Amino acid sequence: MMMYQTFPKVELHLHLDGSMRIQTACELLQLKEEIVKKKMEAPISCDSLTDYLQVFDLPISLLQTKENLTRVTKELGEDLKQDGVIYAEVRFCPLLHIQKGLTPQEVIEAVLEGISKAPVKMNLILCMMRHFSLEQNQMIIKLAQQYHLPLDLAGDEAKYPTEHFSSLFSEINQYHIPFTIHAGESGNIDSLQAAFSFQAKRIGHGIQVVNSEALLQEADQQKVHFEICPTSNIQTKAVSSYEKHPIAQLYKMGYSLSVNTDNRTVSHITLSEEYEKLAHTFHWNQEDFKKINFNAIDVAFLNEEEKEKLKAIIKAV
Ligand SMILES: [Zn+2]
Repeated sequence: MMMYQTFPKVELHLHLDGSMRIQTACELLQLKEEIVKKKMEAPISCDSLTDYLQVFDLPISLLQTKENLTRVTKELGEDLKQDGVIYAEVRFCPLLHIQKGLTPQEVIEAVLEGISKAPVKMNLILCMMRHFSLEQNQMIIKLAQQYHLPLDLAGDEAKYPTEHFSSLFSEINQYHIPFTIHAGESGNIDSLQAAFSFQAKRIGHGIQVVNSEALLQEADQQKVHFEICPTSNIQTKAVSSYEKHPIAQLYKMGYSLSVNTDNRTVSHITLSEEYEKLAHTFHWNQEDFKKINFNAIDVAFLNEEEKEKLKAIIKAV
């Protein structure tokens, strides 16, 4: 019997705001848990991704001071440790945290301080947002250069199609900034086509790829890695049930993929629980979980030495 909690896990797709502890929000707001829970956890099934994105309003409103940004990041690190995660890439959009006067630099430095205090190795990814102006997203590119951080594009894929961001990604490629991109989550396959045309090596979700033979081939040729978040996909109605999730199909076909929670609080899930569900639904065993963690390490935003260290921990299980 595999112990999911103690198995050393790597998580590549994890949003800071969507993973803030309920108890911390209760304390900061002086409100009861049942009230805060309703505002921070998405229902088992939302009407759409647009609906799901609303639960981020409350944590974002609280993450407007250095103190809270550092605390919540450090606490996330503690939760990851508890969950048996040995390395995580945490993403967030710095420009969503300047409502009370912090500069974007102060925001990033507060989160980096939280990372330095966390008991687990974590790296940061900066999210550009689909609803932002070109100038705002260009500012995030500048910040990524300044702090040597990788990038992501997040937000509502249905309202703001991936194809509209080609000039942004030409810039990113020109500066050789590593990136991942949310695509093919709820949107149509054109979104993935666009992400592939930006030379993305990592795609957040990407599950719509199974609906196109041509895209499956392209993903194979470009050796694209899919950061899969099964529970999140069911909540946003991108997939109707765990049994019907394309992760098993993609895995069987040999694609590189990782398993992630996306948002621990919003989806009320740990990575151990996600592994357990996969094991029950698709009969994945320890060897399967080792394989997906090696896949994750191969594409992690780390140097070769750091990757070898993580692989050695998993090999030793
Ligand atoms: Zn995400």
